[in-house]
Amino acid sequence: MTRDVPRVRGRSRRRGADDSPGAGPVGRHPGDADGPLLRAVGLSRVYGEDESLVRAVDGVDLDVPAGQTLAVTGPSGCGKSTLLQLLGGLDRPSDGEVWLGGQRIDHLGERALARLRRRGVGFVFQDFHLMDELTAAENVELPALLTGASPRTARHCAAELLDRVGLADRARHLPSELSGGQRQRVAIARALVNEPLVVLADEPTGNLDSAATHDVLRLFGELRAAGQTLVVVTHDERVASKRDRRIAELAEVVTELGEEIAQLTFDPAAPEVRPESLTDYRRALDSYGNARDALDGRDLERVRQELTYARNALVRLDARAHGLPVANPAWADWRSGPLR
Ligand code: ADP
Ligand code: MG
Repeated sequence: MTRDVPRVRGRSRRRGADDSPGAGPVGRHPGDADGPLLRAVGLSRVYGEDESLVRAVDGVDLDVPAGQTLAVTGPSGCGKSTLLQLLGGLDRPSDGEVWLGGQRIDHLGERALARLRRRGVGFVFQDFHLMDELTAAENVELPALLTGASPRTARHCAAELLDRVGLADRARHLPSELSGGQRQRVAIARALVNEPLVVLADEPTGNLDSAATHDVLRLFGELRAAGQTLVVVTHDERVASKRDRRIAELAEVVTELGEEIAQLTFDPAAPEVRPESLTDYRRALDSYGNARDALDGRDLERVRQELTYARNALVRLDARAHGLPVANPAWADWRSGPLR
């Protein structure tokens, strides 16, 4: 099956003949105390076969250090949920490794995996997955009881967590008596009750209105501040950091610029080309290259500057091609306005 959707894909990583299975990537062993809390190496998940083969996740390498948040974004069908399920031991990879807390988890037996999921991972889903017949408090208590906490301890923890998510006064309500945002906050409390190594959230605000989205995002912000390791799959760009978003936006502008330059009908070798046009053409190319380098170095100020240089050079080229004067810098700046 071919679909027009980009896959969650990592740098493809070919295993050398002497890479022993279970050894992490070159460098630090994931079991090291200062290694990442969560690591994926060459992670792949394939569904189906032959014509119906789908590479849902294809060669993903990632490290999430303890206390950090990883935001996974991308269009529907690109493999975000599959990735999350692999990271949390809900599904097994077709290839590659998953390490959590220094332990390789993708080849654990069923029982060990279930134990690890209960203790080590807190899941939050788009549609909450609460037990309808249990109260909010009971929903939160359940995973604690399943890992052997006494009923008293479980009750105490649940009450504390419901208070933390602002629902102390809803503890005895059934999910059907709660709003979407409140249900999701119960689900977050439940995910936290066993003090998991990592919280994995799959589009946690996907079914919420904007006010509830705001509440849930604020709660995730508090978890981050408290040092909780988080992986959040999201369509909601507010979860990704502002800087990451700016980088992504600029990367898009740089790509568009590259395409624009590639499409120039301008032939630098043609005899009628004026020397100043040749200069501008070279400037645009140079600045485009510099912008890409600056993007790699995450020097956003420099990216913006080089984009402006390139844009101005293109504007001058364009103007000359149309017989317009280009000496007026204000006019050139005006044309390049949106890029500033
Ligand atoms: P996302 O969460 O980014 O929307 P998914 O991880 O749900 O993406 O799905 C990635 C791709 O894998 C999609 O093409 C989807 O149809 C396919 N897929 C997911 N689960 C299965 C499955 N159980 N069997 C076959 N294909 C699947
Ligand atoms: Mg999904």
